Amino acid sequence: MAKGTLYVVSAPSGAGKTSLVKAMLKQDQSIVVSVSHTTREMRPGEVDGVDYNFVSMDQFNEMIGQADFLEFAEVFTNKYGTSQRWVEDQLEQGKDVILEIDWQGAQQVRRLMPDCLSVFILPPSREALEERLTNRGQDSEDVIALRMSEAVSEMSHYGEYDFLVINDDFDQALLELHGVFLAQRMKIEQQRERCHDLLASLLS
Ligand code: 5GP
Repeated sequence: MAKGTLYVVSAPSGAGKTSLVKAMLKQDQSIVVSVSHTTREMRPGEVDGVDYNFVSMDQFNEMIGQADFLEFAEVFTNKYGTSQRWVEDQLEQGKDVILEIDWQGAQQVRRLMPDCLSVFILPPSREALEERLTNRGQDSEDVIALRMSEAVSEMSHYGEYDFLVINDDFDQALLELHGVFLAQRMKIEQQRERCHDLLASLLS
């Protein structure tokens, strides 16, 4: 079986990355998304084990000590990390794996797994980003202002990525994001393995 491809998807907070990824997973059963570990507090509506694995700082540090993380980083004073074993298992099973992580994690993953593909998602304008951050209604004004400046610093890394998607019209952005995955799957090396029997019978 052909191994899956590892994808890194990054965006500033409020660009719609999580909604786009969720919509794509509904359409395509061959893609899975890694559930990160984090030390940040759970937000209303979030579910442990679904949105994140919420852990204490001690548990997080223990996982670092056991080399459990493929990558980890500090974002907004909280720690986030990706389970290495889960990612490798899924890739072995032929699944395409998405890591929804920040630019620091993306840099680590690129170094360790140079075959990964990375996609950056941007909002259509600064105003739209500000509005989306405000509309969440889950954070105070101070937090929103801080997130806005963090967003600008996150966005400054877009050039390190392989693909850029602008999330203006949601359906169009979804098409473009999914297009990256589909094109990669149609590559000759991948198709040669996936369609081995067909190719053998066509050419015999
Ligand atoms: P939030 O707390 O708003 O869900 O996420 C904050 C930031 O942390 C986002 O940019 C998100 O992509 C990033 N993030 C989430 N999980 C991980 C992870 O496992 N590793 C890294 N490096 N960043 C992560």
